[in-house]
Amino acid sequence: MKTAALIVAGGRGSRFGGDLPKQYADLGGMPVIRHTIEVFLRHPAIDAILVVIHPDDLDLYNAAVAGLDLLPPVLGGSERQDSVRNGLEALAEAAPEAVLIHDAARPAVAPVTIDGVLAALADAGGAIPVLPIVDTLKQRAGGDRLGGTVDRNSLVRAQTPQGFRFDDILEAHRASAGKSLTDDAAVMEAAGHVVTGVPGTEQNVKITTNDDLARMAQQLDGQAEMQWEYRTGNGYDVHKFEAGSEVTICGIVIPHSAGLAGHSDADVGLHALTDALLGSIAEGDIGDHFPPSDSQWRGAPSDLFLRHAHSLLLQRGGVIANLDVTLICEAPKIGPHRQTMRERIGDILGLDTGRISVKATTTEKLGFTGRSEGIAAVATVSVRLPAVSR
Ligand code: MG
Repeated sequence: MKTAALIVAGGRGSRFGGDLPKQYADLGGMPVIRHTIEVFLRHPAIDAILVVIHPDDLDLYNAAVAGLDLLPPVLGGSERQDSVRNGLEALAEAAPEAVLIHDAARPAVAPVTIDGVLAALADAGGAIPVLPIVDTLKQRAGGDRLGGTVDRNSLVRAQTPQGFRFDDILEAHRASAGKSLTDDAAVMEAAGHVVTGVPGTEQNVKITTNDDLARMAQQLDGQAEMQWEYRTGNGYDVHKFEAGSEVTICGIVIPHSAGLAGHSDADVGLHALTDALLGSIAEGDIGDHFPPSDSQWRGAPSDLFLRHAHSLLLQRGGVIANLDVTLICEAPKIGPHRQTMRERIGDILGLDTGRISVKATTTEKLGFTGRSEGIAAVATVSVRLPAVSR
């Protein structure tokens, strides 16, 4: 094993309201500790995760991590330092090269922070994320009275994960048992090692109060919004009537006194929709993908074109938010077929009909549609894409 993560969840959270320890509080539908563990589970440099828990929390813990691939939990001691030492002793047999020790109550740790700590560890006895202090620092002189001003430039705020070579931190913890040290960097310093600071992030807050929890929930909501971008495409198509006895519109065959001329099945509705979908992802138009000069599309069912455009969207991790088709003709009457058309489009795209609209209008006998020379269709599609594809 190369790198283990040791997550410390043994605290009681005495500054946190209620009976539930803060690391098990709900954060956006999931316990805080599960958010924390999942960051490390997803990180490619982490080979194993061990969590140190309070002896009273075993049921809470098991419920919180159900289904996750973790080492068996270890019970913590009376102080954080004891808990970390218990966790390190439990990892000793697996003998990782490095260990990252992290507070369970810091669920918003960024993968880039884990990268930074691990990279710095190559040249240092220990590496921890730190942040500058922006507020001016004052000394207390007694009661509310203030003494002098402290030079903040010589100070930083320490966060976790704190990274160490495993053998060094285990030895340092064994040597410092009984001394009261507030973090693992202090344990390493007490053993004579030099610890390096790497840039932390303001988001990597340790949830201590209910206010912290509420702010973190808002932060996560914001991130969820940020992860998607929304796009819209439009499409327009016309096919003219020719001799025949039926037309195909939005995948439905409708008996009519004429047919529609076209290279494929001349489905004016699905063609407009396909162009709208292609437009939403800037993938050209239906003619680029299915040239009329190519004889293999002669008489082709147009759901094939729509499925292809949809597959291009799916390849980008996108989904259709909604679509809206308007058919423009004097005849045939679309009304009786609207529901069947919505269901047919829903089948092709795997989409609920609540996201599918099919409408129809005439042009008051004006123009080519008014003279029943052909049918026109316009379509609009909105899609949602992962913002990384930007
Ligand atoms: Mg067409």
